[in-house]
Amino acid sequence: MRTQVAIIGSGPSGLLLGQLLTDAGIDNVIMDRVGKDHILSRVRAGVLEEGTVGILEKAGVGERMHREGLPHAGFSLTFDGRDHRIDLFDLTGGKRVMVYGQTELTRDLIEKREASGALTVHDAANVTPCGFEGEQPFITYEKHGVTHRIDCDFIAGCDGFHGASRKAVPAEAIKTYEKIYPFGWLGILAEVPPVHHELIYANHPRGFALCSMRSPTRSRYYVQCSLEDRVEMWSDDRFWDELRRRLPTDHAEAMVTGPSFEKSIAPLRSFVAEPMRFGRLFLVGDAAHIVPPTGAKGLNLAASDVFYLLRGLLEHYQERSDAGLDAYSATALKRVWKAVRFSWHMTTLMHRFPDTGDFGQKIQEAELDYLAQSRAASTAMAENYVGLPY
Ligand SMILES: Cc1cc2nc3c(=O)[nH]c(=O)nc-3n(C[C@H](O)[C@H](O)[C@H](O)COP(=O)(O)OP(=O)(O)OC[C@H]3O[C@@H](n4cnc5c(N)ncnc54)[C@H](O)[C@@H]3O)c2cc1C
Repeated sequence: MRTQVAIIGSGPSGLLLGQLLTDAGIDNVIMDRVGKDHILSRVRAGVLEEGTVGILEKAGVGERMHREGLPHAGFSLTFDGRDHRIDLFDLTGGKRVMVYGQTELTRDLIEKREASGALTVHDAANVTPCGFEGEQPFITYEKHGVTHRIDCDFIAGCDGFHGASRKAVPAEAIKTYEKIYPFGWLGILAEVPPVHHELIYANHPRGFALCSMRSPTRSRYYVQCSLEDRVEMWSDDRFWDELRRRLPTDHAEAMVTGPSFEKSIAPLRSFVAEPMRFGRLFLVGDAAHIVPPTGAKGLNLAASDVFYLLRGLLEHYQERSDAGLDAYSATALKRVWKAVRFSWHMTTLMHRFPDTGDFGQKIQEAELDYLAQSRAASTAMAENYVGLPY
């Protein structure tokens, strides 16, 4: 089989890139190691920047997002019994974010792809990118015990942090940067109305908490937990008690609780691989970088990578120019590092670190106080939260 762009991974990066290529008349095949049901069972991100919303509209999947998604014009930071609202709309000259779950966004993209007739190979084992250093790359994979080969012009490695694409690159050709945080996030989904109509990021002596949502009737809540904790150690009652203790009294008293139907612990990590291009292989999204979810940037970075790679591929096929592809890695990385910095900063500002010490604690308190008093500091936070320009 032959295609123009072989895409490894049918998460948001792969599906979005595939859809935009299909719309431009560029043939592509997506391979994923798991099936559709598994992909749609994953609960992940939920806050979309305006740039991401624009790319999704361009891919023809904006309709349900605009109907069911929740535009947010601000969010709250709570600390020291105070509640400081970051007014995104006012501070950024009219920008908002959109709360729309990654699962729903992925479902929209899968349905759109199925309707277009473009090929997705699910349950593909041992997907391997080959020959990408030369002019004739190809991919091999196994399905039902048979090995298949797809020849292509380019390979897009959209297969997430644990995927095969980055691992196929010789170690000497890649440099990685990593920071592991000394805590995790315990998250739950519950069919209860959100405690507040906007997100609340809470800094508390007992640890960080986040009140988020997926819809007016479904809440997504998190508490900072120890890396040694296991989900079984956290009954629903224990979770709700802990969450309420970390919130200001008015929010704690307004909280509606109920049984959770999803509960998981996620470690927090910052990771960047450089460069993001190796000959005819391009890394996209989580395959190249990971950020802690505090700044809500993971999915949004995947979308901006897709934007830059699509631009390069369109120039290649439509204008016979490789300038965009040659610039992909450097251009994408500039935006990636700014989001890595912001996510690290939000994480550092809002969490309790085991080794902070009295000095570090005072610095954190001073920074939060400065943020609450300074429009300039709040503007910088708002500008990064709604997303830096492409
Ligand atoms: C548990 C969790 C919680 C998260 N929460 C948030 C959040 O609250 N906010 C936020 O902004 N971001 C969050 N993120 C990050 C966000 O979900 C990711 O940034 C986003 O999914 C990136 O999309 P992607 O398509 O690049 O990668 P992925 O979504 O990881 O998709 C990769 C795809 O590749 C497939 N794949 C993997 N390996 C192979 C292989 N060898 N062969 C073939 N296919 C393969 C996978 O099955 C998957 O379908 C979270 C991530 C995780 C893991």
